[in-house]
Amino acid sequence: MKKVYGVIGDPIEHSLSPVMHNAAFEHMGLDAIYLAFRVVEHEVGDAIRGAKSLGIAGLNVTIPLKERVLEFVDADDVAARIGAVNTIDFSTRTGTGTGTPSGYNTDGIGALAVLKEHTGELRGKEVLILGAGGAARAIAFYLDAEGARLTIANRNEERAARLASYLHNATPIGLNAELLKRHIRDADILINTTPVGMYPHEDDTLVNAELMHPELVVFDIVYNPMETKLMKEAKKAGVHTIIGGVKMLVYQGAASLRIWTGMEPPIGVMEEAVIRALSSRTRTRTRTRNS
Ligand code: NAP
Repeated sequence: MKKVYGVIGDPIEHSLSPVMHNAAFEHMGLDAIYLAFRVVEHEVGDAIRGAKSLGIAGLNVTIPLKERVLEFVDADDVAARIGAVNTIDFSTRTGTGTGTPSGYNTDGIGALAVLKEHTGELRGKEVLILGAGGAARAIAFYLDAEGARLTIANRNEERAARLASYLHNATPIGLNAELLKRHIRDADILINTTPVGMYPHEDDTLVNAELMHPELVVFDIVYNPMETKLMKEAKKAGVHTIIGGVKMLVYQGAASLRIWTGMEPPIGVMEEAVIRALSSRTRTRTRTRNS
């Protein structure tokens, strides 16, 4: 029987996960389909119980449900520490035997894989993270475990301080221009985990070219648009290593697929599917603007 997977969140209609996972299933020769389900926050428990009853094999979880689903799954240690789940497995293959679905967080795995590909060893690296939300927590957890030295800059300073307090080697700061200037000067890696610069606010950035130096690695986890304003500013500053959010999206999706199927996912096929979908959306937007 065809296996059904999906993503739950609200809003969900712009999710790229169906395109990415369906391309992977086809390439892997799996009789499976991946769908997007809009689930409002107060119905998340019903949705998970319903998915289990319907025999859905696995779910991804996105904004604003990643924290809410924790009480309905058996979260593994990493997801429990991060306080957010983005992957649910309903199979008994990975289950705890209690009948409760298993919960994981693959966001940090995705980001770490991308960074390692570009920077190698992370131990001792000075990393400035913009934001202290769900994605920041997942990424910070993995970088901290790798021995990186973190600075967490967030608009809500209390939230930055709370995140830093869970980590071994992290300093919280506010999103203040002077502080950012000083910390970016000393940083090896700058990661934007805020939605600033995301469509439809493509002209926004928290950091401009004047604050960057060519040796800084700039990683924006926003993937829509594929080249954000922050990345354009990095280019202007002569930064050698500039990374966008598509690779992280693909790597976190691939990590979910490994959990669900135990198989090695076709990374290249998934990346191509995402880039094709994003390029088509950009063309449609440009046509609409010009008409
Ligand atoms: P979240 O939990 O809502 O956290 C958002 C963070 O951004 C918070 O720290 C918030 O600060 C900060 N922020 C929001 N608007 C801001 C503004 N105008 N100025 C300054 N800071 C602002 O969201 P999330 O789940 O971490 O996701 C954040 C972004 O990452 C989204 O764009 C999402 O699409 C992207 N993402 C990408 C991937 C990928 O695979 N590439 C994976 C996950 C997420 P306060 O605490 O002060 O509110």
